[in-house]
Amino acid sequence: MPVSSRVSHFSKDQPLFTHVVENRPLSTPESEKDTRHFVITLAGSGLTYQAGDSLGVVPTNREAEVDELIERLQTTGGEAIRLPRGTETLPLREALQRRLALAGPTRRTLEVLLNRTTVPAERSRIESLLSPGTDELLERYLEERHFVDLLADFPGVRLAPQEFVDLLRRLTPRLYSIASSPRLHPDEVHLTISVVRYTANERERHGVCSTYLADRVALGETPVMVFPVESHFRLPEDPARDVIMIGPGTGIAPFRAFLQERAATVASGRNWLFFGEQRRAHDFLYENELEAWRASGHLARLDLAFSRDQEERIYVQHRMRESAAELWRWLAAGACLYVCGDAKRMAKDVEAALHQIVSAQGGLSPEAAADFVKQLKKDKRYQRDVY
Ligand code: NAP
Repeated sequence: MPVSSRVSHFSKDQPLFTHVVENRPLSTPESEKDTRHFVITLAGSGLTYQAGDSLGVVPTNREAEVDELIERLQTTGGEAIRLPRGTETLPLREALQRRLALAGPTRRTLEVLLNRTTVPAERSRIESLLSPGTDELLERYLEERHFVDLLADFPGVRLAPQEFVDLLRRLTPRLYSIASSPRLHPDEVHLTISVVRYTANERERHGVCSTYLADRVALGETPVMVFPVESHFRLPEDPARDVIMIGPGTGIAPFRAFLQERAATVASGRNWLFFGEQRRAHDFLYENELEAWRASGHLARLDLAFSRDQEERIYVQHRMRESAAELWRWLAAGACLYVCGDAKRMAKDVEAALHQIVSAQGGLSPEAAADFVKQLKKDKRYQRDVY
């Protein structure tokens, strides 16, 4: 049976329990990042996916953070609590470990704490954070803190476990673009994840799901809950169409899937990849695979932008501009263009570069170039998977 026609019954509410079977670094220890390749086994599960889909992963919180919360709440963790906006009851520790988000306190959290501290100095500190005209200060204060930091900042606060739980949101699954094609890896899902670790407010911070997979899941042992999420991000139906893929950083993930898919289906269209990262020696994710595809011609073009290998920053959109004429020829001949990765800066700058290229190479006014790009989107020849 063709892979795409099988229906998978797994979902957020009915995830697959499986294992991570591989966790290997893609960046070197000298890199400023810790980007990893994970393999999750699907063997015997019936879970199916298509190139371009994402995988939902249900994480758990760090035990050290849960322990500290329980200690600061001066409880045992065994108290039965009710999950917010629901009727399900379970022990506090389990709820903190598996069901509740421990990051993201809000103004309302501080408003509640204000009425729960008996210490005058703490009251006035909270009042000054909430006072009118200090929005920026408050925003920065909250951004740098998890709930446990607020309890540490205001030890005079007294909250019953249920009152504390009522301040929290549910822990939600994280979605990652799948980095493998089911035609090549029907029994596996591959993920490309940059492990989020940084310091804020003098504490080490850990991205919930990336450090869950990197640090807290034992290979082949810890049960992990995953489910496929169907995407709009799809290769062209016509295998003869050319594709242009722009995927710096972890944005490479779905393009590794696309390239595997196009190799497995012997698609005759050409493939052009723009990839960027900080340093060639430390951050060239999937270097061997990409270079092999370039050598074999499966990648007609591989344009690389290592931003920090020279004084001035060079990004994928600079490489696009350098090859503007060729890029326009591909587009004018019907190529599909895909962008994946950082939404805030990269995707915007790449879109601006695309407009300029279309305008300059196509001899179009900025308005006509904008219409051209709009039409590309409508025709599903310009698709984005940005986060
Ligand atoms: P990334 O942070 O996107 O970095 C990949 C490459 O893109 C690096 O060479 C980076 O250069 C470069 N880059 C930076 N700004 C760019 C721009 N405006 N246009 C084009 N390229 C640009 O890769 P990642 O580690 O995979 O991170 C992706 C994840 O981190 C996403 O979740 C993303 O949203 C998030 N992130 C967001 C920000 C942000 O402030 N929006 C920052 C970092 C990460 P340099 O690093 O040398 O500038």
